[in-house]
Amino acid sequence: MTVTCAQFKRDFLAEIKTLYATTLNDTSPLDQLIALGHLVRRYDGPNWAKTARAYQTQHRKQVYYFSIEFLPGRLLMANLLNLNLVTTVRHGLKELGLDLDQIRQAEPDPALGNGGLGRLAACYLDAMASLDIAGNGNGIRYRYGLFKQLFINGYQVEMPDDWLRNGNVWETRRENKSCIVRFGGHVWLQPQANGTLKPQYRDTDDVLAVPYDVGIVGYHNSVTNTLRLWSAELPPNADHTYYSQAQRDQIDDITKVLYPDDSNSAGQALRLRQEYFFTSAGVQSIVRHFCAHHHGMRTFAKQVAIHINDTHPTLVIPELMRLLMDEHHCSWDLAWALTRQVMSYTNHTILQEALETWPVALFQGLLPRIYQIVAEIDRRYRAQKTPVFGAALVDQTAPLGNGQVRMAYLAVIGSHSVNGVAPLHTELLKKDVLHGLYQVYPERFNNKTNGITLRRWVQLANPPLARTLDARIGNLWRRNPRLLKTLLAYQYDQGFLTELSQVKLANKQALAALVAQRLGLQIRTDAIYDVQVKRLHAYKRQLLHVFEILREYFQIKDQPTAPFVPRVHIFGAKAAPSYHYAKAIIKLINAVANLVNHDPVVGSRLKVVFIPNYGVSLAEVIIPAADVSEQISTASKEASGTSNMKLMANGALALATYDGANVDIIQAAGAKNEYPFGLTVAEVYRYYQRGDYRARDFYRGNPELKRIVDSLVDGTIPGISTEGREIYDSLLRYNDEFFVLADYASYVAQQRQISQDYQDQTAWQRRALANIAASGAFGADLAVARYADDIWQVPHDRLD
Ligand SMILES: *Cc1c(COP(=O)(O)O)cnc(C)c1O
Repeated sequence: MTVTCAQFKRDFLAEIKTLYATTLNDTSPLDQLIALGHLVRRYDGPNWAKTARAYQTQHRKQVYYFSIEFLPGRLLMANLLNLNLVTTVRHGLKELGLDLDQIRQAEPDPALGNGGLGRLAACYLDAMASLDIAGNGNGIRYRYGLFKQLFINGYQVEMPDDWLRNGNVWETRRENKSCIVRFGGHVWLQPQANGTLKPQYRDTDDVLAVPYDVGIVGYHNSVTNTLRLWSAELPPNADHTYYSQAQRDQIDDITKVLYPDDSNSAGQALRLRQEYFFTSAGVQSIVRHFCAHHHGMRTFAKQVAIHINDTHPTLVIPELMRLLMDEHHCSWDLAWALTRQVMSYTNHTILQEALETWPVALFQGLLPRIYQIVAEIDRRYRAQKTPVFGAALVDQTAPLGNGQVRMAYLAVIGSHSVNGVAPLHTELLKKDVLHGLYQVYPERFNNKTNGITLRRWVQLANPPLARTLDARIGNLWRRNPRLLKTLLAYQYDQGFLTELSQVKLANKQALAALVAQRLGLQIRTDAIYDVQVKRLHAYKRQLLHVFEILREYFQIKDQPTAPFVPRVHIFGAKAAPSYHYAKAIIKLINAVANLVNHDPVVGSRLKVVFIPNYGVSLAEVIIPAADVSEQISTASKEASGTSNMKLMANGALALATYDGANVDIIQAAGAKNEYPFGLTVAEVYRYYQRGDYRARDFYRGNPELKRIVDSLVDGTIPGISTEGREIYDSLLRYNDEFFVLADYASYVAQQRQISQDYQDQTAWQRRALANIAASGAFGADLAVARYADDIWQVPHDRLD
């Protein structure tokens, strides 16, 4: 996109005048943001239209990425970056007396996701557009995003996130692309004159699905793809049907809130309604679009790929079957063949409680026709596979079983590809979680390690680093992050290593300013910034990190004059509102922060910073300032992780278990550049097998650890009498499900090593460099290119 600075200024002032009928002086940053958003859309409009037209005329195969969550972050800067307008706009605004960095802060951060899953979906949309893949997102336009988190007296308090209050400048409502989604009622199959059966519906609850489209701008390539988010509304009411307030509310509720929990299958009918709502609307719009440009359905699989991001969109499988058979007169066999060719599924978890299942009664009542189709998939699966694999295995793996619809199994059976998100995770899927289905369909299983877009996580979040890299290795890494490996030539360049420390210092100053402003707390910038940012969950073990803080605290208290390498421990984490234990950990962290931060003996040497309301915007400030990246989940529990990759690319060293993609990060950057520790997956599974883990033995055998655990209940930490007891009991009474005590010693050994190593800044920055250099392997574009080649079979731009 080329616009001169002068042209931009004229356009911007005209936009202000058109929108507000006033002059610049009389507008707020929010007004300016909206005007700027309109202008960016106007500049990008021709690309958006041209992209859609080109896909059509070239008969490009379309990829539809279905996800119940998207966590895109603020879009202003991302769009400016990808349109190559950052400099023009910054200068233009400056000449008008405005500050782009102030305006960008006025944008709400759409929290339409909980964490990694939704953020991955957003990174992949950005990568698809940047690789010129005909890729579309399909999701839900939640009226309220993930709750806003406050701390009151150290406890998490949830407030609604009214992110649409001032409208959303990036979306376009497309009412003419609406469709009807049917729930409940009765359905039966009516024989037709030509011998076929046609389903008849009675007493259904119909909901209007209205799409809101958001342009997804590719990086410097004039491509703009579409993220389509669906909103539930009352159907157009030609026959003046009466809707009671309860009925109106029921429709309204479907897209009102995001479920604030990504690690449990939410057992609510409303969740199932949400899932069918956006999958049905999405598949209807895909089929409609296809039919507008093709005759008959036979080429459908050549033109369409549908990706199922975790199990929530699995109903795309029976919904496509329904449309192909009921509306487009395909036979079962043709419909099933097309469906399997089109569908692919990514599994994101091995946690048993996160594998979605729905009670048959609920499912059948809400989705009677879909249930018939799932039951037929189940019947045929059993009939075909039992002779080959035996009744026991087939029973264990069929879509229906124990009175439940098993979404993950349905997803595997109805897809041609199933992937895990890191090599270790994929192996665990085969060996454990989906072992039965792996026996039936070994050829479907493959690995696609997660990736992140460095456009957002380095170019936007860390401009000082980006500029420093440009100066050394040129700017081609911005297009192809694998070129970052050429940095290794500067490992022994003292000047460059010094620059890296200066970049880190600048980012620490920015974070320290935010902490001072939001928490009223001073943190020194020469300390080690030890960062753990992610959802609060027992398996992620924020508790282990707290134990290290207590260890350091006791060390200072015991020997107040002994040398101590200053540390700032930084947390960001939301807990699901119903997750009692996670909330107890939040209270503990805040209580420890309160104890440590106000102890005059400790002074500035040790600080604990828990910044509330963690989300993409906060991540963009915290991650560039990190020295240490805490990736300390119990081995086998974290499918991949992606904050590990973001922190790596920003030069933080990983303190990490051999879990998820940590394994690959350690390998890519070299173990000597990270701090690996803890039980391996094999060791964890050996404990499970033998049933011989005894947390108490670790507690009794290590006086330092015992003192820390006891401090939870002996009054050392004020204000946690109930939470401290609860956590204490989880460790000793309930035998420490996540092996915190088993991993304590090796974790702390590495933490001591970190304090020692950090004092040699040259050596430290050399290792930071090794991390940055190796991070290109985790770029989202590479990951998405592998999906395109192996799974979707669509062409894409090459990076080299
Ligand atoms: C990347 C990201 C996550 C995922 O973090 P993990 O440590 O991989 O769980 C969660 N939330 C936000 C806001 C993120 O940007």
